Amino acid sequence: MCQFCGVDPVFAASFETEDNNSNDKTPTQETTQQHTNAPSFFRLKKSNKRYTGLTTQQLTTFASSLSPGAQVVMAHHGEPYQKATKRWTKAAEKQPLAVVMVANAEDVSKTIIMAKSHSVPFTVKCGGHSPGGQSSVDNGIVIDLGLMKQVTVNPDNKTIIAGGGCLSGDIVKAAAEYGLASVVGSSSHVGIGGFLLHGGYGQLAGEYGLGVDNIVGTEVVTASGEIVWASEDSNSDLFWAIRGAGNRFGVVTKFVLKVHKISDTVWSGVLSYTGDKLEALVKAINTWYDKKDPKAAFIMVLSKGADGKPGVVILPFYNGTQEQGEASFADFLAIEPAVRDTSSMPYWKSCTLGDEPGTYTTDFIRFESANTKPHIDYKHFKHLLDLLEQLYKTVPTSDKSNIVFAAFQPDAVEKYKRTDMAFCWRDTNFDVGIGARWQDPNQAEEMRKWGAKLQQAVLENGNSERLYSNHADFEGPSSKEFGINYLKLCELKQKWDPEGVFKSIVN
Ligand SMILES: Cc1cc2nc3c(=O)[nH]c(=O)nc-3n(C[C@H](O)[C@H](O)[C@H](O)COP(=O)(O)OP(=O)(O)OC[C@H]3O[C@@H](n4cnc5c(N)ncnc54)[C@H](O)[C@@H]3O)c2cc1C
Repeated sequence: MCQFCGVDPVFAASFETEDNNSNDKTPTQETTQQHTNAPSFFRLKKSNKRYTGLTTQQLTTFASSLSPGAQVVMAHHGEPYQKATKRWTKAAEKQPLAVVMVANAEDVSKTIIMAKSHSVPFTVKCGGHSPGGQSSVDNGIVIDLGLMKQVTVNPDNKTIIAGGGCLSGDIVKAAAEYGLASVVGSSSHVGIGGFLLHGGYGQLAGEYGLGVDNIVGTEVVTASGEIVWASEDSNSDLFWAIRGAGNRFGVVTKFVLKVHKISDTVWSGVLSYTGDKLEALVKAINTWYDKKDPKAAFIMVLSKGADGKPGVVILPFYNGTQEQGEASFADFLAIEPAVRDTSSMPYWKSCTLGDEPGTYTTDFIRFESANTKPHIDYKHFKHLLDLLEQLYKTVPTSDKSNIVFAAFQPDAVEKYKRTDMAFCWRDTNFDVGIGARWQDPNQAEEMRKWGAKLQQAVLENGNSERLYSNHADFEGPSSKEFGINYLKLCELKQKWDPEGVFKSIVN
């Protein structure tokens, strides 16, 4: 008997029930003619496919078993359901049976047990920014961590405890109150769940490693619904696995993270260049790289400029004064950007420079993962700009498509061995995310091909065996996501999720 909704899952999985027939469905000719006189017990389901017939009544009963504050949102609730199913890109939006807005780890545990009991697929949502649709599920249950945004800062041992539903902006702002900073990316709207568990390239990575390297411990709800602590000292194999393959192993409801002392202001902003400045920029980038200053980093975006042609935007970052920042990026500043908007600013502000006007866009978007070796090469980059130009001409609604490079010194990332945790990509290459973006749903297939074409073009000067899950929409191949750690992860999957209730390790 399901402890939450009163239905025996053994029977529910194989047979039609009274609830399936009466509560949600308008009786059809088929149901009235075929089943009227048959006892419900003998009404074998038409197929052995996953049972996805949880009724509104069952879900409402389930809601009453959750903590105060938690909610179960269903389609008939209208606007709250529309809101709860929104994602950063329309391409990731689905129609779940219900979105469970959990308030704590116990609610997550109950939801997992309930979903498993009924063989209903489920997934987890933190910031909803992964474009591949992994944080939603058609006809299943979304465990939405959005109410779990509590942050506690411990300035004495330089750690923070963050709820599993925090966005980057939540933790950065809380840490800033104490003059501390965590490794986060360029947009405050991105969830820490996806970002930290699967890598996490940020402006402080040159000094403090990737986001994933800064996880000290986690509270995890496992596939069995158990709530466990995972750290170097406790369930260390699970801790190893979730640091890189988090969404395959559990729901992280709390993160303990290392944070770092930071001065009141850093130097950052925007430099925007027309495409004709590319050759000079490539030289400046290579000279900058050779300075080997871990406090300096930048994001480079190849995208459509104000002149309608592909250009280059640089978001420079220096963990220091304006004077130090300008000295570090002197060669860039000398190239006369079309737009220069740089200044000293609080660290948290520099982590909002990639924000778009709203949390979510109205675009269709797909990411592809790539990387490129420093030093970069002018001809290679010119080819990338030419390809973007072709794309903008060929697919008229694609002009927000871009190629994004994360550049920082590699020492702090390379100090970890590939086998220290599931995330294995420890090398000097700049990570590259390709964002294929379009408006017309009919262009999806064409844009997928363009994404793959741009990926191949970037990889001409990179490592084609390396793949960043967060920029590959978690679509693998897994052997490239996890490299040398793949087989160990397959073994650990058998231990921690033998029924495969979380995302498969095999892509
Ligand atoms: C605007 C933008 C800027 C970005 N900038 C950067 C950047 O600077 N650096 C970088 O490295 N990446 C960056 N990314 C990529 C980003 O890291 C990924 O898209 C990431 O997966 C988003 O995390 P999320 O929690 O918002 O996504 P979601 O879609 O909510 O989750 C992503 C995956 O993680 C799982 N998941 C989420 N939370 C948990 C949890 N607590 N426990 C278990 N599983 C969980 C979900 O089930 C899903 O499979 C950016 C993305 C966008 C859209």
